[in-house]
Amino acid sequence: MKIAKAFRFRLLPTPRQEAHFERMAGASRYVWNFCLRHCHAEWAAFRVALEEAIAAGIELKNKTYKGGYEVPSSERWPEAYTAFETKLEGYRKELASDERPDKLSTPSIAYQYLYKVICKHRDEGEGGWLSEVHSHCANSPAKTVGKAYKSWWTAMAQDRNHGAPKFKSKHRPGAAARKRGWRQDRRPSFTIQANRSFIRKKGIRVPGPRSGEAPGWVNTWPQDPSSDIPLEAKICSITVSQEAGRWYCSVTVGELEIPDPIIAGDVLGIDLGINAIVTLSDGTSIDPPRPLEHALKRLAFLQRRLGRRKDRESKRRRRAQLAVARQHAKVAAIRSDFLHKLSLQLVNRCRTIVVEGFDVSELVQKAVPKTRRGKRKRKRRMQILDLGWGELRRQLLYKGEWYGCDVIVAPPFEATDRSCNRCATINQMPNNTSEYRCSSCGLVTTRQLNTAKLLEGYGLPTGEKDAAQ
Ligand SMILES: [Zn+2]
Repeated sequence: MKIAKAFRFRLLPTPRQEAHFERMAGASRYVWNFCLRHCHAEWAAFRVALEEAIAAGIELKNKTYKGGYEVPSSERWPEAYTAFETKLEGYRKELASDERPDKLSTPSIAYQYLYKVICKHRDEGEGGWLSEVHSHCANSPAKTVGKAYKSWWTAMAQDRNHGAPKFKSKHRPGAAARKRGWRQDRRPSFTIQANRSFIRKKGIRVPGPRSGEAPGWVNTWPQDPSSDIPLEAKICSITVSQEAGRWYCSVTVGELEIPDPIIAGDVLGIDLGINAIVTLSDGTSIDPPRPLEHALKRLAFLQRRLGRRKDRESKRRRRAQLAVARQHAKVAAIRSDFLHKLSLQLVNRCRTIVVEGFDVSELVQKAVPKTRRGKRKRKRRMQILDLGWGELRRQLLYKGEWYGCDVIVAPPFEATDRSCNRCATINQMPNNTSEYRCSSCGLVTTRQLNTAKLLEGYGLPTGEKDAAQ
């Protein structure tokens, strides 16, 4: 099977290389914001036309959209403004024609169009300085803005709760917006098109600031990219990004061949829990690392120190800020490392995996403190988020596909933690015990193991299911 994959390495740039990274990332951010502004203008024009149409009593068969944006000012964004005017005129004509359209032509946000706009801005507008940085900096953000906008529209047409793409800020580089499982990354970053010649032992090549300028080799640590990335893989692009003051690169690889898996075992039911992150139907349970819980004391100390640094411009405040960000990054890294190892181990262990399909964010919502007794609930919410159930399930699903293991997400059925796995009787249980006793067949086990076995039963083919009962 051929798959696409990303390999991530830490970079150790020299101060000069770092300055160069910052410049490339700055240009990328500028282009992102410029393209986004342009998309917003197109969107605003579309909405004005749509509202005029609705006011004039014209019935459109397509869905109406919600949300809207300011019209760009003609002084600051002349190109965007002109495009906005032309577009608006176009929509008006479309609506005024004798044949009533069932659908307005959607605003053009295609990559080619955005790229043309940014090139025009660079060659004729104020963006002349963009010609001093590598052309890929203008290239890739135009593409991603187009993609982000399209996915936002699709979500709105389907009435899904999905935030609009956001502007990137120079002053709040780490800020990322999260809305219903969809994360917008606003870290300083830039992407370059790459191939095999960009990678060698202990180093990654990043092109010079201008096209044609001498490239620089940047050291990676501690891994060796040339031996980690298989030789036959096709290298597509390299994204360099900054996180908590450190630089990383992510090498995107396509057409990577995965060897046929050797899969032992059978069906495995997995119960997701708080004390043991997974309880398997074969009886093993694995404890989670709980990195956030362990870092709380240190985080509190670092946050207090940051709170004392009141001068916003001071270097000491910046240092304290970085220390908090690093601690959070460390927590995330420990969790991610654990989940990746666990999910790989699980999909290589058996033919079929069954996990529970409950909505993690809903569970967390339920644990939101509403009363004064909220402290315990707040802790519970932190504990759940510290585990990363949702991420584990996501990893199981894609890795299962890679390594030939069927991962089934069982619908969250109500009696799942109450019915007995041997005789299917529904027992009433107090919430605070972990022991499971069946009143009809006398089975004594733990609740987690009972649920895991129920899930295993769900994954068995129908014939075997009857035999098992
Ligand atoms: Zn029973």
